[in-house]
Formats: sequence, C-alpha cells, structure tokens
Amino acid sequence: MEYGIAVDLGATNTRVAAGTAKGEFIARISERTNLFEGAEAVSLQVISMIWRLQNKAGLDPRDMVGIGVGAFGPQDPIRGGIVKPANAPYEFIPVRKPLEDAFKVPVEVYNDCVISVIGERFYGLGKNVDNIVYITISTGIGAGVYVDRRLLLGKDGNAHEIGHIVVDCEGRLVCGCGKRGHWEAYCSGRNIPNFAKLMIEAKNKFEDFMNSYLWKASNGSLNGITAKSVYDGAKLNDRLCIEIVENIGVLNAMGVASAINVYDPDLVTLGGAVTLNNVEHVLNPIKQHFKDYIVNREAEIAVTPLGDDIGLYGALAAAFRLHKNIP
Ligand SMILES: [Zn+2]
Repeated sequence: MEYGIAVDLGATNTRVAAGTAKGEFIARISERTNLFEGAEAVSLQVISMIWRLQNKAGLDPRDMVGIGVGAFGPQDPIRGGIVKPANAPYEFIPVRKPLEDAFKVPVEVYNDCVISVIGERFYGLGKNVDNIVYITISTGIGAGVYVDRRLLLGKDGNAHEIGHIVVDCEGRLVCGCGKRGHWEAYCSGRNIPNFAKLMIEAKNKFEDFMNSYLWKASNGSLNGITAKSVYDGAKLNDRLCIEIVENIGVLNAMGVASAINVYDPDLVTLGGAVTLNNVEHVLNPIKQHFKDYIVNREAEIAVTPLGDDIGLYGALAAAFRLHKNIP
C-alpha cells in the first residue's frame, strides 16, 4: 500500500506520521526537537524517526511515495531548509537534501503556516475552495494563502508574515520582532499577557483586577497573568476578562479583515492553540467586528476542523504532491 510521510518539524516538538493520499493517518510518533547538537542533528533526528515509524507500523520503505515537511523558522527554498531561526544558533538547518539522500524520494519543505493551508485545502474546509486564508493564532500569528487555486509563497517561501500587520497606530506594545503595534504583540499566546497588563494599567483598572478572577489566577501580580487565565476567566463570566477578550477580539477582527482586504478569500479558517482552546471566545468577537474593517465582499470565517494536526495534514498532501497537481 502506498503511503506518504508527513513531518511537522516544530521548534519544540517534531511529529512524524505515515498516511494515505485520502488523508488517513496509519501511524505517528512525536519527540522533542533536538536543537542542541548542531544543525545537522535536526534532519538526522527526522530520518531516525521515519525509520522507527516504518518499523513500528510494518511499512515497506519501497511503498513510500514522498516526504512532506512543515518546518519552523524562515525558509530558504533554494537550499531547502531553515535559515537563521530565532530559536537556535544556526545560520542554516538543512532539511530537504539529507532526507532525499536518505530515502531517495521527493521531499517538499514549506514553512509551517504555508503547509497548514495546504492541509486545509485538501483535507479540511478548503476542498473545492479556490481562495482561502488559514491563520494560526498560537505562540505567534501567521498565515498560509491560496489565491485563484495558487499557493502563494513569495520569493523565499515566507509570504504572509501576517502577525506583523499593524493594528495599533499608537504602537503601545513592542512585538517580538522589535517593531511596535504589530497584531502579534497584542493577540498571540505569548503576548496576550502584555496586552492584559496594558489594559489594566492604561485604564486604571487595578481595583477591577483585584476583584477579578485574574487576581487569584496570577497570585495578585500583573506579571503573573497568562493567556490561559484571561480566557479561563472569560469562560467563568469574569467581567474584566470578558473586557480583555473583547478587546483582543477587536484587534483579531482588524487582522482578519486586513487579510480579507488583501487576499479577497472565499474562506478564512483559524487554528493554533489560542484558537483551538478558546473556540467561541476567539471566533465570536472576530465574526462580530470584522465587517467594520473590510472593503471586499465578506468571507466565511470558521475554525479549522483539522485542529492541531493541520500541519501534518498539509505535509501529507505535500508528500503526495497533491498541491502540484491542481486541475
Ligand atoms: Zn512584529
């Protein structure tokens, strides 16, 4: 039986799965990514995981049709790998060539957001949709995009750094990239605590804070606030948390509306841990506010049904090169 190998190469965890062209996974394994023993160790780990997966699932190496990889960090499509990642001290992490040399099958490497929209297009809500934007709201915020059935890549495969769209012209918060006012600086999992703190300080809401769910959840410290505690509080109908979640939602609506204005999609799907853990509290405010900011005809907005596996689904589609054969 023919199978493809899907690799979700994250800065924290690496997941490897075998699956069919129909999008059915046969077997999978997951490990902490080894970023500490040199740039070459990363692909050696992936190679070893593929061997072990084949053994574990009794898969004949001759039936493997290809390997698809969704990788963290900026891509270098010429050399086929990750260039100057923020999470590791390497100039370049080779991915494509070591895998091709080890397995003698085609290897497709894309950044993790681009691979995810391939997953949505072939196995999720994007089947038969020509124009689709997938947005992940996770530690950071990023996107993958199809326009006119074409996967948009950019000169280095790093198109759609959508988390760095400006949503605050006052630039009150600094983004991880060093610039001010970016969407990700307010609404990503890593930065929601900064936005909550900003709202409490700027609006003199210390008394509200002391009476809020956040006070207990953060041990009475503004620096102890987490994204989880903000959404947990909103789910418990805590007034301050609801207000913060609503404000996050307005900024998310601006970001999604900007994507609609720029790409003119039929469909926008949302994923990433912040979305998947708080579906209603992320989706509803976006749906409520995005029309205030769009100029293009509105798009359908939904949470991806592929959940946390969307990158693996995309890598599986890429392993079968489905994205290269669009009618
Ligand atoms: Zn930024």
